[in-house]
Parts: sequence; structure tokens; C-alpha cells
Amino acid sequence: MPMLDLLRRIVQEVNAAEDLGEALKLIVGRVRAALAVDVCSIYLTLPERAQLVLMATEGLNPESVLLVRLNYDEGLVGLVAERAEPINLDDAPMHPRYKYFPETGEERYHAFLGVPIIHQRRMLGVLVVQQRDSRRFDEEHVAFLVTLAAQLSGAISHAEIVGGIARVADEQLRDDLFIAGIPGASGVAIGTAVVAYALADLDSMPDRQAQDPADEERQFLDAVRRVQADMLTLKDRMTGVLPAEERVLFDAYVMMLGSDTLVTRTLERIHAGNWAPGALRETIRESARTFEEMEDEYLRERAGDLRDIGRRILGCLQSVAVDHSRLPDRVILVGEDVSATQLAEIPPEKLAGVVSARGSGSSHVAILARAMGVPAVMGVADLPVGRLDGREVIVDGYLGRVFVQPSANVRTEFLRLAEEERELSEGLRKQALEPARTLDGFHLPIYVNAGLLSDAPPAVESGAEGVGLYRTEVPFLVRQQFPGEDEQYHIYRQMLASFSPRPVTLRTLDVGGDKALPYFPVKEDNPFLGWRGIRITLDHPEIFLTQLRAMLRASVGLGNLHVLFPMISTLGELDAARGLLDQARTELADEGLDVPAPQVGAMVEVPSAVYLAEALARRVDFLSIGTNDLIQYLLAVDRNNARVADLYHSLHPAVLQAIAQVVEGAHRQGKSVSVCGEMAAEPEAVILLIGLGVDALSVSLSALPRVKWVVRSFSRAHAAELFTQAMRHEEPAAIRSFLGDALVEAGLGGLVRPGKR
Ligand code: PEP
Ligand code: MG
Repeated sequence: MPMLDLLRRIVQEVNAAEDLGEALKLIVGRVRAALAVDVCSIYLTLPERAQLVLMATEGLNPESVLLVRLNYDEGLVGLVAERAEPINLDDAPMHPRYKYFPETGEERYHAFLGVPIIHQRRMLGVLVVQQRDSRRFDEEHVAFLVTLAAQLSGAISHAEIVGGIARVADEQLRDDLFIAGIPGASGVAIGTAVVAYALADLDSMPDRQAQDPADEERQFLDAVRRVQADMLTLKDRMTGVLPAEERVLFDAYVMMLGSDTLVTRTLERIHAGNWAPGALRETIRESARTFEEMEDEYLRERAGDLRDIGRRILGCLQSVAVDHSRLPDRVILVGEDVSATQLAEIPPEKLAGVVSARGSGSSHVAILARAMGVPAVMGVADLPVGRLDGREVIVDGYLGRVFVQPSANVRTEFLRLAEEERELSEGLRKQALEPARTLDGFHLPIYVNAGLLSDAPPAVESGAEGVGLYRTEVPFLVRQQFPGEDEQYHIYRQMLASFSPRPVTLRTLDVGGDKALPYFPVKEDNPFLGWRGIRITLDHPEIFLTQLRAMLRASVGLGNLHVLFPMISTLGELDAARGLLDQARTELADEGLDVPAPQVGAMVEVPSAVYLAEALARRVDFLSIGTNDLIQYLLAVDRNNARVADLYHSLHPAVLQAIAQVVEGAHRQGKSVSVCGEMAAEPEAVILLIGLGVDALSVSLSALPRVKWVVRSFSRAHAAELFTQAMRHEEPAAIRSFLGDALVEAGLGGLVRPGKR
């Protein structure tokens, strides 16, 4: 068999293996046969003990598995791990590092080839082949093993994470095993994983002769009733989360479910002999086609809703729908690409955490989780979703980490943290209403980031001095088409009115990148470097003007509107955006509506904007630094990509210098600067932002109390001094730990997260 096919087959088999033990056995068996060698073995590292342990072998004495352990500086296997490169010897016993292990029953094997197994820079172990005769393995053998080890490292690390390594007696071992992702919503939670399945695939349902048509009919009608009931429950659950006009969508679903076409046509097909899933598929396909052929665009869009309904009914027929009574008390919702609907489907009192293989901290679902105060970890690219259902999971939303089947030590540590967090937030809530003043009396307003209408009332009561960032794309994302001017007006008006007279910053539509509108698909190779934010709205003035008019109208009589433009990378874009804002205002004036001039701001989230800060500031009333994007562009680290997530550093010296430069540029023009990215919610970073002279912070509601605590605990002069000292450290980790110490010294040790200590 050609090498490539062989490789592919082994990798597939290993990925399908039940557990680590089976996976390793498979590897050694297949490799020994493929390379026609006498021995193939795998050693895995025990990092806590700086040891390698024999985990599986074909050729050595099977009894020696788990018994043979060597220190990193022992034997040839240790040498492979130490050097992190292959070692190929024709006469191993002659090598000074050769070590004989009697328990292996090892004859004197002469030929030795060992390759390291490395995953995300972590040495997982060593794959070894041996031969009795003295021979040198050729290049092809080396290349084959190196490729195999690289491909298998992910699978081995998963298997290890999901508990397989527990076979190695050492409990402690699993303490630091976590899957890394991106912080989505802060907080820690322990619960049971519930995997969110994609809705059933209706199109793949075959026709099948019904065994008992009466039974098929009963099952079908029952499924329809369950979906109807689910829709009504969903609608209720979304009260207070989604505004009324969005909830009518669920009514439309209920109506479609009761429609004659859907029920009668499916029953006819069942009576004609087809089983329920096949009959349903045909009815949905037929009705969807009718919708798709309609002239009216709105009605054409309904075909998608109909398919959604079809999938839901099928889901019930297949009993894959979430059965609420069987849900664990503390649900950690886990999925490839968790959607807002799936999140809404879990009763809020049971939802403890969210883990999604895709998405980022700015995904709709992360924003929703934040609004609900539920920790979330996003972008966990290596998440073994299929193996997690029912397992105990810890979500660390601060550091973006997921622990699967944690050891007793880790669980105890996180239970303690969760308790500390509860006490802390209770204590903090009490002082959240105190003024946001530094120790030397400087007023540093703390605003909230919002995106859902339900954010408004709690935010007003929480001590927020206004809204620093309202992501208007959220109402765009949950709709079936671009919302009209009046629809938008109502949303913005409610936001402005609930906070009046406090300022409310409405950011213009910022889609593209990872935020795609379902009804406005954009396919690009590099969406974050592509058509997003202001680039889209400037290309579509009709969409932009509608939004600007709605914002301006909403501010009449209130005068607290701030308009913020995202993704500005050139001065021309800002001029053009301002031009359209003026046009909207003039149009409204011509229509007899006198709208007060809003405050206008530009976001600094692209490196070019850092260098243009002063020129941008000259054109606007304020700048707002969007660190989420600024960091990804400065450091060239995709904020959605878990593979590089550990290179994403808010405290990178380059990021800090960029912020300093923006503040200086804006202040030279007498303009204010706020920070509205997630960095503004990190206690360590807040010290530096105070020291840098930032004029306002905008953070999620749940982060507000802790941020206020930091602001109230430092003077500007002290923070400035800490900034100077922090910059003497060159590495982000060193800067973080230096600031962690400063927090502890100021009596804020409770805010320093584990791993950051
Ligand atoms: C940012 O980039 O920091 C920001 C606030 O915008 P968003 O996260 O919505 O991209
Ligand atoms: Mg941004």
C-alpha cells in the first residue's frame, strides 16, 4: 500500500479508537507491520515527574508496559525527547546513552529509530522502532514515522485529555491537562457536557416502506405537537432577552407547523406507504420549492424557515431533540459551532457554561453568554466534541481553558475559585455604585458594552455611566433580512432612552470577519483582512444611511447619542463616513426633524489607525480603541484560531506601546480616548490603562464591578509608575505577573486568576 494511503488509514483508525490504550495499541501494531520491523513501542511523557513511560509495544515483553520508566536524561528514548528530533542508529548498544531494561525481555536489538511526538510544542512522547539486525533505517522510514507522529499527536493529546491516561496510575498527572481556546465570557464553572447536535439532516432521509402506517402517523403528529410546544417555550424563554418584534418569528413557526399543507400532505404520503421521515422530506421539499419560486423576496426567504421546521420535526422523530427532563442540573453546552438558538434552548437556570470549537469572544453566542453571566470558552479548535457528552467539564472563561474529567485536585481548586468568585462578586456589587474615581480623585468613567436590549435595565442599575459600545450588528444577526429604519429606530431609541442622560455609543454595523449575516453571505479567503466593518457600509450607502437615520432619529429630545465607526484604516474612510452622517442629518432636517449633532468617534483597531491617531482625532470627538481586533492585527494572530491563541497577548509590549501612542495623539488634539475591547476588563491591564491616561473604559456588565474596584484602588501617578516599570519586562507573561503582584499589593489579590499568579 502506498505510504500516503497507509498513513491516512492509520490516522483514521486512531481517531476512531475508543480510548488512549486502544489508540496506542493500534499504532504500534500497524507500524510494526507496515515497516516490517521487530519492535514498535510508544513512550509517553509524565511531565510532573520528568519521566517517560512505556505505554504500548509490539515486540517487547507486554508485561513491561507501564513498568519501564526512564528519566528524561536516561536512555536513547530520553535522548529523543530531550533533543526533540529523530535519532537513527544502526547499532544502538554502542551508543553512550544506551540503557538496557531487563524487564522488557529485550534482546540486544541493534537498529533503533526514535521520533518525538509533539503537540503544540508539548513533548507528548516518543515513537520507537527497533530491529534485531544492525541496519540503518532509510530516509523513507524516518519520513514516514515523523509524518505519522505529527499527525497522531493531536489524537494522542485528545485521548490523553479525555481520560485515557488515567491508566497511568498517577492522578496528579492530569492536573495541567486542558484544552486551550479563547476566553468568550469570564467566570469559571463546573458541570456536565451536553453536546449540541446540528439539526437532523432532512435531505438525507431515504424513502422507506412504513411497517405500521398508523404508528408512523401517530409519531409524526406527536413530533409536530412537540415542535409547536418547543417553539412557544423558546419564545417565552426569550422574553427579556430578545425584543418582542423578534419573538414573533416563533409565532410564524407555530403557524407553519399547523398549516394544512405541511400536516395533510405528509399524512397523505404516510397513508400511501412511506415512513414518516421520508414523507416529511418530500412535503418540505415540495413546499420549500413553492416558496422559492415566489416573486416576493420576503416569501422566498420563508423557504429557509420551512426547512428549519422540517429538521426540527425530524429531530423529534429521531428523538435527538434536547429532553429537558434528562438534562443535568449544571449543563456545559458543548458543540462544533454552538449557535445562539442552541444556547437559548437550555433553560437558563441549568446553563452553567458554554464551549464551542468555533467562534471567538465576539461571536454572537459569546456576547449572549456574557449577557447571561455564563462563562464561555470559544475557538477550541482541538475540541473532541464527539467524545465529551456526559463527561464532567470545567470551563475557565478567564483563561479560555477547558478541563475534561478533571482530577480531584483540579476540581477542588475550581470549586474554591467559583466560591471565591461568588463572594467576590457579591462584595463587588456593593461597591459598584460608588464613583469611578482613582485614589487621587480622577474620574475615569466605566461604561458597558451592550448588544442585547435586555442588557439595558440591569446595566442602568449596575453603576454603569453609560454605554461605551453598543454592537448594532446583534439585532442584524438575529433577523432574516436587514432591519428597516423604523425597526432600528425602536431598538436604538429604547437604548438611548433607558440610559438618558448618560451617553450611549452606537457603533455602526460591523459585520464581516467572523460575523456573517445569514442573509448577506460573503465568501472570502481571509475575511478578517477583507470586506468588513466600515468597508461594507461605505460600499452600501443605502444600508448605512438607513442605520444612521435611525440612530439620529432615536436621539431626538435626548441628545446622548455617540456614533462610532468601526474598522477605520484610512482617513478617507472616516471622511466618507462623516459625510454620510452629515447627509443623513441634512435629509432629516429637510424632512422637518431637527436632530442634535451627535458626538462622533472612530475606532482604533487596525495598526494603520494607531499611526494616524492624531489625524483621526482631529476629525472626530473621541477615539475608542478596539483591542480585540487591534491585538490580532498587530500580532498577526487570528483571534478565532485556537492554534495560535497562546500568541494572543493583550499585555504584549507592542500592544501597550500602540495604546500609548494613540492616547498621546488624541490628547495632543484635546480629544478623549476610551478602550472598549476585552482588555479593558482585565484587572492587570486596567492598571496600565489608568497609567497611560486613558479617559474611559467600556466593559461587559459582568466585568464592571471588578474594573471599578481596580480604578478605585490606584492613583494615576502610581499606575503611571507601574506602567514604566512594567515596560522594563520584555515578555507579556513577565508583565502580567509583575502586575499581578501589584494587584496583590493593593489588596486585590482576589482578582488575580490562577495561571496568572
Ligand atoms: C474590538 O475589536 O476590540 C471591538 C470592541 O470590536 P469587536 O470585538 O466587536 O470586533
Ligand atoms: Mg473590532
